[in-house]
Parts: sequence; structure tokens; C-alpha cells
Amino acid sequence: MQAEPVTRGLRKAAPRPDLFEVAHLSDPWEALTAELKPPMSHQDAFLEAYRCLLCGGPLTPAPCMLACPAKVDVPSFIGAISVGEAVEAAEIILDANPLGGTCARVCPTEELCEGACVLHSTHQRPIDIGRLQRYAIDQAFRDGNLLVPERPQHNGMRVAVIGAGPAGLTGAFELAKYGYKVTIFDSRAGTGGLVRAAIAPYRQLTEPLDQETARLWELGIEFRLGTTVDSSLREELESSYDSILLAIGMGEDAATGCEGNDLKGIFSSLPFIEKIKLAYLPDVKNKVAVIGAGNTAMDVAREAIRLGAAEVTVLYRRSEKEMPAFPVEFDEAVQEGVRFAWLTSPVRYEGNGRVNAVRCLKMKLGDQDSSGRRKPVPVDGSEFLLEVDTVIEAIGQLPRKDFLFAIPGIELNSGLIRAASETGATGNPLYFAAGDALNGGATVVEAVRMGKVAAAGIDAKLSERGGAK
Ligand code: SF4
Repeated sequence: MQAEPVTRGLRKAAPRPDLFEVAHLSDPWEALTAELKPPMSHQDAFLEAYRCLLCGGPLTPAPCMLACPAKVDVPSFIGAISVGEAVEAAEIILDANPLGGTCARVCPTEELCEGACVLHSTHQRPIDIGRLQRYAIDQAFRDGNLLVPERPQHNGMRVAVIGAGPAGLTGAFELAKYGYKVTIFDSRAGTGGLVRAAIAPYRQLTEPLDQETARLWELGIEFRLGTTVDSSLREELESSYDSILLAIGMGEDAATGCEGNDLKGIFSSLPFIEKIKLAYLPDVKNKVAVIGAGNTAMDVAREAIRLGAAEVTVLYRRSEKEMPAFPVEFDEAVQEGVRFAWLTSPVRYEGNGRVNAVRCLKMKLGDQDSSGRRKPVPVDGSEFLLEVDTVIEAIGQLPRKDFLFAIPGIELNSGLIRAASETGATGNPLYFAAGDALNGGATVVEAVRMGKVAAAGIDAKLSERGGAK
């Protein structure tokens, strides 16, 4: 069955008066690590599981399951929790999604499974699927039960996976279950890619990435972390592996290129979050401007509030309607006190050593551009100064063009890999691809889905060939 693409829903965040209070706690680390979706007690999990109508059946899957990119069998795992079988529930989840514990914490569930829950139709609160999923996996892992599938017999073929983020880990896991000998390469010292380095700490610090990785070890997957795949290693992989899965993600932050960006107090979003996750808390002082209005921009704005900034303003050159962030993320940022300046573009950072103002222009929307959105056009004479102490640029990431250009046959579209959506096959028959390097960056669970698709694509291709090269 062809997987459905993730679509952006329109769910609004429920009012949560506690959010403002938590975001403004006087201890920044406490505020930064106060979990948005905290664990459930046994009793709460049972009660919540009992509310579930266990919809669907073999011919009509439940809407929550259909809305899950990883196709986790939600009613089955919730049913298992309701009869006290949390470990069985975890098994069901991890069978469909090896990053089930991570996704339970970081998935935009309001947009996906919980957004599709039938209880909405009777104006009831949807089932708290994310936290139930976390409950099941926490229970299993807490007992040291990693639920590692039985190692299949090696089929004689080897696959290299470049990138140990969600797409790479999932692809590797699926391939190992098919019987391939898999090696994962990543230049970082740890697994998880941006999940480890750049997911807001109030969503996930690192747990349970290590347990999720340990399951892959136990399945016989080899890790070569701290290893950059340069052209000579790439050529070595091409000659010694039967297939290569590119799960390389995106590169560094794109920059606005505004004059004055070398002033102190100006950050790019990914290093800013990474610093926080390592407990080096940036001194953002009082007034912060965040450039961009995607989900990462919402996160850094909320992190700036938690770091103690009194005023955090998101500057976006289009209007609220074109904002790329999920409505839920926007609503929660507003509830925490983040302000928004729509149709506003930075043109220069001012300061003396440290940034003290952003020179901005007001914009209006003109004709549609190549992205299908209306193009922002400067309004004459609209320049103004916004006083700030800190600027965080969060306008997206750059594709890894240099690495990709060097691989013969790989076709790119605006720097993103062109690959068959139903198999992950690229223009080079040795290479398949999955994750952010194809779509420019979406959700973790979408990368999981793509990792599964590419693993099935590799298996189909190598099975057709009928053995090692
Ligand atoms: Fe339970 Fe809602 Fe899914 Fe139905 S749609 S199975 S009530 S979570």
C-alpha cells in the first residue's frame, strides 16, 4: 500500500493556562526542561485507555491509525494498555515505529493521530494518544525490556546507511529485520541527528534515544559514528555495499544575509538549540527578535522566553495565513507570551559590538512566487527600528548540495534529492534516499515513514537482483 503524505491540519491548541506559568518559571533550566507532554501515572493511563472506542477493524482501520505516518496500530496498543499489558502495547508501537518513544514526545499529535480521533465529532476531548504511547514504551524500557526482534538469518547482502537521524535509524532497522547486514555512518558522535541536537528540550532532552539505538545494536546493526563520509569513503562504500541509503538530512541554517550579522547576540537557530540542549544557556537579555515563522522559529521564541527574555517578537515577511508553523505551535507560542510582527522583514542589524536594534521594513503581499505563496514586496518609506538585545535567525536549513553534487546520477530539485515517492529510488541505481534531504525538513515521524519506504524499496530492488554483487 502506498503511504499517504502527511498533510498539514488546522487544529488549534487547547487553552492551557499552565503554559504561561511554566514558560516564565524563574529558573531557566527548570522552564526549559518542563515537559510539554509529561509522563502519565498508571491510573491516568488506564482511565485514558478506557475512554478509547477502539475503532476500526481489519477492513476499516481507525482514523487515528490512518493519520499516523508510521501506521502505528493505535487501537491495538491502547487496548493492550487498558488490560494492563503495557509491554505488549510497546511491542505493537515499536514494531511499526522504532522511534516510537521519541515520536510519542515530539510528534505534532494534534495534527496527526489525535487530530483524527473520532471523539472530536462528539465534541469530546480526543484520546491522549501521544502520552499513552509514551507510557507504554517508558514501562517497557524502564524494566530493561528493549523488545528486540529476533535476529533474522543474514541474507548475504550489505547496505550502508549514511545518516543516523530518524530516517536513517528507521531504514537501518527495517533492513536489518529483512536480513541485511547494515552499517550506519554519521559524522556526529551520537545517534538521532536533529532529534538529539535540535529538538526543544521541553519536548525531549535525549531519553529514550539511547534505548531506541540500543535495540538497533542488539539487532546486529553496526554504527560508525564520528565518521564523515568523504569522497574516498563514499567510493569505498559504493564498491563494497549492495545498496546505499542516503539519510543525510539538511545542512546548516540558511542565513538572512542582513548586514551586521557578525554582531554579538545574533544566533542561528540550530546552534542556539544545541547549546541549550548541552546546558550552555545563551544570555539573551531582555528583548529578542526571532526571524522566520516555521516550527523551529516557534521553538526558539519559546526557548527565549524560558531563558528569561521579557519581550520576544517573531518577525515574518508574509502574513499569518502564509506562516509555515503548525497552528498548534503558533497558538502555544502566543499563550506563552510570544509576539508576532507580520509583514515585517529585517534589513540590517544595528549595534556597537552587540546588536541593539533590527532595522525593519514593512511589506505587502504581491503576486504568487514559485512556492505558490504571495510574494512579499517592501512598502516604500516604511523603515523602522526595533530595539533588541538578541536576534535568532530561524528561516530554514540549507541542502547538502556539495555532497550530493559529487554523486553521479543523483538528481536535485532546488538542492533536494529527487527520489521515487513509493520506493525512495534515486537517479543512481545504487542509492535510495529518505528524510529531510528529500522534503527539506518535516516531522520526525514523516522521516520514519520515509525510512520505511526506502528500506522496502531497497529490499524490492535487491530481491529482484537475487543476491550479493
Ligand atoms: Fe481511540 Fe480515537 Fe483512535 Fe477511535 S479514533 S481508536 S477513539 S484514539
